[in-house]
Amino acid sequence: ELSNRMAVRGVDIIKFLMKQGLMMKINDVIDTDTAELVADEFGMAVRRVSESDVEAGFLSDADDAEATTPRPPVVAIMGHVDHGKTSLLDALRTTDVASGEAGGITQHIGAYQVRLPDDQKVTFLDTPGHAAFSAMRARGANVTDIVILVVAADDGVMPQTIEAIQHARAANAPMIVAVNKVDKPGADVTKIVNELLQYEVIAESLGGDTQIIEVSAKEKTNLDGLLEAILLQAEVMDLKADPEHSAEGIVIEAKLDKGRGPVATVLVKRGTLKRGDLVVAGSAFGRVRALLDERNAQLTEAGPSVPVEILGLDSTPSPGDVFAVVENEARARELTEYRERQRREKATGGINQVSLVDMMSKLASKKVSELPVLIKSDVQGSGEAIQGSLEKMGNDEVRARVVYSGAGGITESDVTLAKSAGAPILGFNVRASKQARDLAEREGVEIRYYSIIYDLLDDMKGVLSGMLAPLQ
Ligand code: GDP
Repeated sequence: ELSNRMAVRGVDIIKFLMKQGLMMKINDVIDTDTAELVADEFGMAVRRVSESDVEAGFLSDADDAEATTPRPPVVAIMGHVDHGKTSLLDALRTTDVASGEAGGITQHIGAYQVRLPDDQKVTFLDTPGHAAFSAMRARGANVTDIVILVVAADDGVMPQTIEAIQHARAANAPMIVAVNKVDKPGADVTKIVNELLQYEVIAESLGGDTQIIEVSAKEKTNLDGLLEAILLQAEVMDLKADPEHSAEGIVIEAKLDKGRGPVATVLVKRGTLKRGDLVVAGSAFGRVRALLDERNAQLTEAGPSVPVEILGLDSTPSPGDVFAVVENEARARELTEYRERQRREKATGGINQVSLVDMMSKLASKKVSELPVLIKSDVQGSGEAIQGSLEKMGNDEVRARVVYSGAGGITESDVTLAKSAGAPILGFNVRASKQARDLAEREGVEIRYYSIIYDLLDDMKGVLSGMLAPLQ
């Protein structure tokens, strides 16, 4: 491809790469830096389309380092089933100052923004649950600034509560706990605060840094308290974006609408998206024909943290895809082709593998100093024993880090978490479900099975020291 575009013979490029110590075949994939080096060598001028985007397929937060314009926080709601995530999202919708008038939040587009007094705003992702959240993270799309962990006051910390805590930690998103259903007779907030302690979620009242807010989604009580907590957390985080930057963001939802064609809800991360802009979203592209918000109002533009539906794409992108405004059609084609290629490479296991061998080479070349792993075991006790031993392993330079340890078979949710954390999965006396195996294969996440703790620890020792026995 590169040889074609530069009109330079492939062998000459290969020769040059060899001189650099890179043994490559004609169809091997090289990274951007190497491609730039090659192009330079052959006297070509190089221009990157969009650094963050082309480089790794995700938005780089570094772009916001110099931004000075505050942006609203983007909040995701997670927690155990039936603890009230949907009810809370519905209740929060009504806190919008304009909701009493015509034009309240009427349509579900995957995210909505509430406007509060004093011109403050909060954006909520409107798809509760962990699947959507980790699917987006797995694709490198870290859109969530703050996680609201919903815990029902009459039930307490449950398996998915714990899972949500792990997801928030893996995403480095601060948590605010909403203790819901406090209107119920069996509500016991103190019990929940104590249960959370076991998972190192420490309430401010106990000297920790987690705000714990009592609410009732049903009675709509203390929603303002929760919003205040969000705004306070956002202030601490000092969230900024540059509205003048070329517009970029993430696809939250997408569908093919009979009358309107492909419709995608995007969340603008930086810059301002305008009607008439030429956008690339995943491998889809097109000119933005209309921008619609959750109030079904036509917008002419959407700035940072604003969710909008866009019409005018030529196909339906996937949630988690990056979108970016491009200056012309040629550039758009280039980007979509690049992404299509990346997707194919990924599907055939070319890049982005989460395997022990891959981790080992990253450790050896000091690209990482940590070996993240996810453990699933038959009983909690053995998982804890493995975790304890692993954490003692390694030295100051390299060490293993257990991202998550749980009991039970390996599920799709484990695979998405593993993918987003860049961690291989170690199964001890457990198997993976068919769906989990398929997903792991697609995403390039390695699952290794063990029945003897010693074998597992031995393998990990090998990875940390740069020597790994081949897979049996
Ligand atoms: P999700 O599965 O987490 O989205 O939970 P839902 O929002 O669907 O709520 C589960 C059930 O709990 C529903 O029957 C709600 O009506 C009920 N519920 C939610 N919030 C409250 C609350 O604050 N108080 C009471 N009493 N019930 C609630």
